[in-house]
Amino acid sequence: MTARIVDGKAVAADLRAVVAARIAMLPFVPGLTVVLVGDDPASAVYVRSKDRAAKDAGILARTVRMAADTPQSALLDEIARLNADPETDGILVQLPLPAHIDAEAVIQAIDPAKDVDGFHPANVAALAMGRPGLVPCTPAGVMKLLQHAGVVLSGARALVLGRSSIVGRPMAALLLAADATVTIAHSRTRDLPAECRRADVLIAATGRPEMVKADWIGAGATVIDVGINRLPDGRLVGDVAYAECLDRAGAITPVPGGVGPMTIACLLENTLEAAIRRRQAVL
Ligand code: NDP
Repeated sequence: MTARIVDGKAVAADLRAVVAARIAMLPFVPGLTVVLVGDDPASAVYVRSKDRAAKDAGILARTVRMAADTPQSALLDEIARLNADPETDGILVQLPLPAHIDAEAVIQAIDPAKDVDGFHPANVAALAMGRPGLVPCTPAGVMKLLQHAGVVLSGARALVLGRSSIVGRPMAALLLAADATVTIAHSRTRDLPAECRRADVLIAATGRPEMVKADWIGAGATVIDVGINRLPDGRLVGDVAYAECLDRAGAITPVPGGVGPMTIACLLENTLEAAIRRRQAVL
């Protein structure tokens, strides 16, 4: 059996087109402001792609660049300004922040209604309680890929490998909301390969290159690889040993071209949703 390859690039392109079409019909222009502190090259690349994708979708996209030694108080002042800015519907502070800045304090300062990354405690609580809110972009993108692949989640055994607040935890909450039976595995999990093998749906988000091997996967399982790892030889690989798992999985996402493009597409959708909800709240 050869796994069906779930083409995140194509699904993301469709979603971006839908978002752009919805924006074109609005009587206003949604605004997204990305705040980049410091000069981390990977962050600069991510911010540029977000900016370009947002502009392509018809969003008023702006990037605020701040020096690496910006005091936390100056960053908090900037966020307060953006919270009050009527043209900004979505605020995204690119992570990681320089070590002298408390990322938690910064995230908490963002107006939850503008928190398009979905990291503010109010949005985390909404997701945990199954209430409406802004959902983190990467797990939201994974859910859309699963839907596109026709995976039935109700009653399925889903295993999320990784428990970060950016990916693993919100991922588990979304799968639970879709009626899957969810296990969260992490670095202390006993007999990880056996846990993984039981899963009908395996989501890998560890940041460990090609850690999930073919014999960790149940025959025919759906494997979603969130990992993005740069090897010393320059190759980009996921957390799953993709080539060997192709003969084992029922469906699998590649890296690159799987979850990555969905993250940005979902950011655009979150910006659109935030813009609509904010205006409805004002009416
Ligand atoms: P974190 O480092 O925050 O979390 C990694 C998680 O994996 C932790 O919960 C950790 O367990 C677990 N883990 C690490 N090593 C092992 C191991 N050997 N066995 C079992 N569990 C392990 O990473 P993120 O969640 O932020 O990111 C995960 C991956 O996803 C990265 O490759 C990142 O680049 C990628 N990513 C991709 C995105 C995209 O758009 N496609 C967006 C965001 C992230 P413990 O908690 O016990 O330490």
